[in-house]
Amino acid sequence: MSDETIRECGHWDGTARRLCRDVDGVRLYATGLRCARHTPAALTHRPEPQPGPGWPAHRKEAA
Ligand SMILES: [Zn+2]
Repeated sequence: MSDETIRECGHWDGTARRLCRDVDGVRLYATGLRCARHTPAALTHRPEPQPGPGWPAHRKEAA
């Protein structure tokens, strides 16, 4: 037994009637673990959200 969780894509391929189970580039999304081809954005043909300015990572706390 291993404590390490297998991170594989949980997208259901309705055509092939099986889970994708790809392990390359798998990340956790609101819908679960997804590979790069099956992210919520990819499935809706939208661009991936990109990290950028606006997130206050470098903002100093107000004293
Ligand atoms: Zn996938």
